[in-house]
Amino acid sequence: DYDVQEKTDYVFKVVVIGDSAVGKTQILSRFAKNEFCFDSKSTIGVEFQTRTVTINGKVIKAQIWDTAGQERYRAVTSAYYRGALGAMLVYDITKRQSFDHVARWVEELRAHADSSIVIMLVGNKADLVDLRMVLTEDAVEFAEDQGLFFSETSALSGDNVESAFLKLLEEINRVVS
Ligand code: GDP
Repeated sequence: DYDVQEKTDYVFKVVVIGDSAVGKTQILSRFAKNEFCFDSKSTIGVEFQTRTVTINGKVIKAQIWDTAGQERYRAVTSAYYRGALGAMLVYDITKRQSFDHVARWVEELRAHADSSIVIMLVGNKADLVDLRMVLTEDAVEFAEDQGLFFSETSALSGDNVESAFLKLLEEINRVVS
């Protein structure tokens, strides 16, 4: 089982970034609490959530930060990125613009985060199959070019959310150990 309540070997800070309304908060609560909140409002005030998992025998507390809506005001500061070992860079597969902005978010990470940060590109809302505007192949190609991991998820159904986070945490664990 991945979930444990023992002593912590590592705390890994992970930041969730991407355009507004792509589902960052829902992905986070799906992973941290296995919840999807249908009437979620703004997340102002929430800083991070944690979940402890075991990876290769190490007890890892993932401390996952939400932008708390600040991305709307271009106010994501370097304090947000400080100490982050991983990033979930989220776009919405039904919103082309949110994918077009991914390159900008990667630049933001390269400018403000540690150079060894592990990045997982996430195409969210994969349940909305009829509304898809971003081809999986295009995202795979971008991710390969930029050296990012990639997954398509649905915070609504829960598909791939767990595996995307666990992959990111495994890679961070590989980098730090
Ligand atoms: P954030 O601004 O990036 O944190 O986005 P939110 O998590 O607040 O989600 C924005 C909107 O998209 C909300 O109405 C969510 O209910 C909806 N949403 C988030 N994830 C999914 C998903 O996987 N599938 C669908 N269909 N809707 C989603």
